[in-house]
Amino acid sequence: MKKNYWPVTTEDERPARMDGTCFYCGIKIGGEHKQDCVIRERTIVVELRIKMVRKVPEDWDKEMIEFHMNESSSCKDNILSEINDMAERCGCLCSYAEGIFLGEAGPGDEEYCQLYINPAKTKEENQKSAQQLNGNMPVVKGLTFINTGTSPV
Ligand SMILES: [Zn+2]
Repeated sequence: MKKNYWPVTTEDERPARMDGTCFYCGIKIGGEHKQDCVIRERTIVVELRIKMVRKVPEDWDKEMIEFHMNESSSCKDNILSEINDMAERCGCLCSYAEGIFLGEAGPGDEEYCQLYINPAKTKEENQKSAQQLNGNMPVVKGLTFINTGTSPV
């Protein structure tokens, strides 16, 4: 999603040039950032694919491996440490990971991920929304972080 108005504030100055303007687009505090200023952001939906070698019990077949990753009670957060370990062993993930742009984020996408470009809600309202949506995340084969929400993909 996009935010309609991006005012320049004192937070947009940088120590290298404290002159009352946005460090990136040069607009004075109180004005609005230029359309191509990096301060202006929007939310999008991406898919992250990571090809990795994992250790699993010897007798697990494809079905069991995918069940364990996608449908069992094993939390997907558990794999974050494996990803970190792999990044350290391999130096980085650049040869093993791919990011794919799926589309612009809609209100449903922002609700799912609790990341808003225009955080008009309180923390409590965000948590309530997350609880209501809990369990509605789509199950996707393999290791992907994907969100359907309402955005066109
Ligand atoms: Zn700017």
